[in-house]
Amino acid sequence: MKTDVQVAVVGGGIVGCSVLYWLAKLGWTDTLLLERRNLTSGSTWHAAGNTTYFGPYAEMTRLFAGSIRTYQQAEKDSGQSIGFHQTGSLRVATTKRERELFHEFEAGYKTLGIPYHVVGNDVISALHPCINTDGLYGAAQTPTDGHVDPSSTTHALAKAAKQLGAAIEVQCPVHSISRVGDRWLVQTENGQVSAQHIVMAASFWTRELLQPLGLNVPLYATQHHELITETVPEIAALDYEVPAYRDSHVSCSMRQERDGFLVGIYETEPVFWSLDGIPKDFKEELFPPETDRLMPHLEKLMTRVPAFAEAGIKTINNGPMCWTPDGLPMLGPIDGKHPDLWMASGFNVGIGTGGGSAEFLAHWMVHGKPLFDLPIVHADRFGNEVSTGQALEAIKECYRRGYRLPEAI
Ligand SMILES: Cc1cc2nc3c(=O)[nH]c(=O)nc-3n(C[C@H](O)[C@H](O)[C@H](O)COP(=O)(O)OP(=O)(O)OC[C@H]3O[C@@H](n4cnc5c(N)ncnc54)[C@H](O)[C@@H]3O)c2cc1C
Repeated sequence: MKTDVQVAVVGGGIVGCSVLYWLAKLGWTDTLLLERRNLTSGSTWHAAGNTTYFGPYAEMTRLFAGSIRTYQQAEKDSGQSIGFHQTGSLRVATTKRERELFHEFEAGYKTLGIPYHVVGNDVISALHPCINTDGLYGAAQTPTDGHVDPSSTTHALAKAAKQLGAAIEVQCPVHSISRVGDRWLVQTENGQVSAQHIVMAASFWTRELLQPLGLNVPLYATQHHELITETVPEIAALDYEVPAYRDSHVSCSMRQERDGFLVGIYETEPVFWSLDGIPKDFKEELFPPETDRLMPHLEKLMTRVPAFAEAGIKTINNGPMCWTPDGLPMLGPIDGKHPDLWMASGFNVGIGTGGGSAEFLAHWMVHGKPLFDLPIVHADRFGNEVSTGQALEAIKECYRRGYRLPEAI
């Protein structure tokens, strides 16, 4: 293992590997990524892989767009498929106001050159015949997004970064980080590493790793469920893959998975996991499903997608998801007192935004300023004094907001 590097990246999920990749693309290859177990062992392995162009704020769209672009480039560079299904997405308007807000996004997408249309119920029915459009006001359509395979994508990023000279050490937990002179000293299971820069891409584990430095970063984990159905005859009968569908009223996303559906739910009463610290013996296991909590959402979904009501449930995954108090990632320096300590943690849609966020951060590290102006994700925005109680209340609000646009609340 390298023992002296320009950059040590802690965490080998999609975000850490994206950062390693982007640093290498920008010429920083004296780098080492340290992963506790295997690449994707955190939340990445069980994610649905939805990778949309639709951000909750118009400004965030650039991170979403940058992610699909990054993964496709990593696929080309590495020769490793990312499993991209370009199904497009429909975000249905459940109120007139929502439709108005969708129209407000049009100019931003035009500037970015991303296809985006506000469409009527007739288009929804034509593209996704399983959606019952009664009571809908059309949808925002992003026809060129879709979903990737999160594990393959992470491995494509890692392979491409390694081809450029970056190094990766797996089965290598970081035990502590300290500042010695003008360097960072990283104590790992496999020995000590001296680094000029550290990038914290360890998701909710980042909170504990930074506590000994006197840092109080508001990163906590909720449980998050996704369900996969058996074959749905209406889907199996189609000769194309239906677009992903997102619905603020049901508070769910749904996409096609083989000949069935994959559904993700944002619950009204989110449940936190391991607030007293992530168990030391946690590997990459899932939690027992708690379907009672999902029922109010599933009942609404059965009305909106009647074919779902008839489908058998094949798999339920309940895994940990990282949150910040405003639901946005923490990127960049944490404060003025910890030089060369960079945050890339706090992702609840890290597949959707990881690649673009890494590009944003790597430019900041290499060129001294981020790729574009996006203060809503700057890591120093919370200060050091957010109490656990305050953070959890704010996270609950974000989680239960689901797909409601901030302006629509
Ligand atoms: C059921 C479910 C479905 C989801 N679906 C989607 C989706 O469709 N689209 C989407 O965008 N997002 C989705 N997500 C969220 C997504 O999984 C996460 O946002 C994303 O995986 C976060 O990536 P990450 O790299 O920040 O974190 P992680 O993947 O958790 O990676 C952090 C890494 O740090 C490592 N680590 C921790 N501590 C140490 C240490 N001390 N030393 C070394 N390494 C360490 C861990 O082992 C881990 O590999 C879903 C989440 C769940 C639970």
